[in-house]
Amino acid sequence: EANKETLGFQTEVKQLLHLMIHSLYSNKEIFLRELISNASDAEDKLRFAALKDDSLYESDPELKIRLDFDEEANTVTLTDNGIGMTRDDVIQNLGTIARSGTAEFLQQLSGDEKKDSKLIGQFGVGFYSSFIVADKVDVFTRRAGAPAEEGVHWESKGDGEFSIEQVNRENRGTQIVLHLKSDAKEFANGWKLRSLVKKYSDHISFPVVMKAEAEEGEEKKDDYETVNDATALWTLPRTEIKDEEYKEFYKHIAHDFEDPLTWSHNKVEGKLDYTSLLYIPARAPFDMYNREAPRGLKLYVQRVFIMDDAEQFLPLYLRFAKGVIDSNDLSLNVSREILQNDSTVESIRTAVTKRVLDMLSKLAKKDPGQYQKFWGEFGTVLKEGPAEDFSNREKIAGLLRFASTHTGESTQNVSLDDYIGRMRDGQKKIYCITADNFTAAKSSPHLEVFRKKGIEVLILSDRIDEWMMGYLSEYDSKQFQDVARGDLDLGEVETEEDKKHKEEAAEEHKALLERIKNALSDRVQEVRVTNRLTDSPACLVVGDFDMGAQMKKIMEAAGQ
Ligand code: ADP
Ligand code: MG
Repeated sequence: EANKETLGFQTEVKQLLHLMIHSLYSNKEIFLRELISNASDAEDKLRFAALKDDSLYESDPELKIRLDFDEEANTVTLTDNGIGMTRDDVIQNLGTIARSGTAEFLQQLSGDEKKDSKLIGQFGVGFYSSFIVADKVDVFTRRAGAPAEEGVHWESKGDGEFSIEQVNRENRGTQIVLHLKSDAKEFANGWKLRSLVKKYSDHISFPVVMKAEAEEGEEKKDDYETVNDATALWTLPRTEIKDEEYKEFYKHIAHDFEDPLTWSHNKVEGKLDYTSLLYIPARAPFDMYNREAPRGLKLYVQRVFIMDDAEQFLPLYLRFAKGVIDSNDLSLNVSREILQNDSTVESIRTAVTKRVLDMLSKLAKKDPGQYQKFWGEFGTVLKEGPAEDFSNREKIAGLLRFASTHTGESTQNVSLDDYIGRMRDGQKKIYCITADNFTAAKSSPHLEVFRKKGIEVLILSDRIDEWMMGYLSEYDSKQFQDVARGDLDLGEVETEEDKKHKEEAAEEHKALLERIKNALSDRVQEVRVTNRLTDSPACLVVGDFDMGAQMKKIMEAAGQ
């Protein structure tokens, strides 16, 4: 045909397709969840767009997702009457991956199926998962509101290129036809598909309809029936929701492939009226440190989808949390600009922030192993908290985990409460040391006296640590003291004898101290006798209010 065009997939898509087909074959059935999830998103988007322009419903206002199959032709077909796509949308959405950092991410893939299938979880599989079960995929689509002639037919075998042509399409929305591979024939079966819809998509907001199954000996039926529950999960009472349902819903909204670590579901009534369903993922997305990476919660107003990535509802240091806010107080016309300075949003944000922090505290108490997993994935993000969120500093500090001289290992698994529980009689401060790396910190001469006295010191060697400590002055009314800074005061742990010894030594070596100071002239501020050391003869100490070594390096790197 004259208007048919063949285009190549972006390199990243080719790599992703290859990876997916080879690492997810034991997990084939997830393609259906991904496609229904997309269809549901498309219905949400249509309903939102129609708030402003209800002609977009055309003559078809009943939003639903239809699932058909043909055992003979070996096909499965999913049809939605959602927002649909233009030709440009199709080329963009089904030919490229728009997330930046993708190429670098894909380069880490090893060819080891087990490892790679984990990595792909960080990425999300999406539409391209169709090719796990299909050796050819047809997409027919028309954007809501566009004329019938502007339909688009996309077709690909998943082998590097796709073709695209303009077609006539009466119905708005998207239809996806999967031509099943010979080892995926099991999916062209009514019972199988029904059970998968129930399992993966029971609580999306829209009905999934299928032709009724014929009883033995009956004629094939032609009428459609709804096979899922089709009520948005967060609107149900907690007691009626199974863990499995919470998990599946998470995968739908978070575009994640793995189960979440934990969740919290709350209906708030009274001055504010909203429902929140919040999740903590098990794994950080590959682009968590990318400024443009999606973040924030999905916002609904009175059960109508308004927007993805409503970042106004959570502070940046909790950007790993996923979930849904459904408010009854906001207007359906709400925009990002309005959200930015709305007092209702501000109140919800304060409450939701607390919920996430509480959810984490609870996890830490209930299941330290899982919390440790969380810390490994998101600890460095949470460390941004003390600087960003002054009012919750104490709570955040309670969630931090540190390496420590107590374990002597680099794993960050000591909480401040653990530390305080082990403090020596008379010890008043929480001691810590910051350094470039764990090994350097651990062998620092500053630790000598602490070892001798059996006092634990927290070891901070992440890039962000020194900066973070600048915003944390105390926890549980105990001050933090960097052992490499200023005059060391060991409180009552330092005996009278120690003090006397230090004073005598200072007197005795006065002349020596003067000479060293003169020799080093303007390179040091002061030279003094210390009890800090037991084995080393001397060490460098940073002034209480000077920039630490780590911070200096960061500033130098930034050209300051
Ligand atoms: P994701 O859902 O995480 O964005 P997908 O690979 O599943 O990624 O889909 C890519 C994009 O293709 C979607 O963001 C959407 O814009 C578009 N898309 C996919 N399926 C549909 C559909 N049924 N209707 C409209 N747009 C769709
Ligand atoms: Mg998707």
